Amino acid sequence: MKCGFCEHEFAEEEGKKGCGGCPGGCHSIHCPRCNYKNPIEPQFFKTIRSIFSHNTDK
Ligand SMILES: [Zn+2]
Ligand SMILES: [Zn+2]
Repeated sequence: MKCGFCEHEFAEEEGKKGCGGCPGGCHSIHCPRCNYKNPIEPQFFKTIRSIFSHNTDK
């Protein structure tokens, strides 16, 4: 994915998740370069949901 702030390209796994510094829990991927809080991409979000729920909504 690409950082929305500095345009640095990095893998989602490379970004910092669950930083502990975001209010209400971290639901974003922080850029490893500038620490910008990038919103999780829809496809990634879908993957997460399929892991926690086996229900397939239409
Ligand atoms: Zn960045
Ligand atoms: Zn965070």
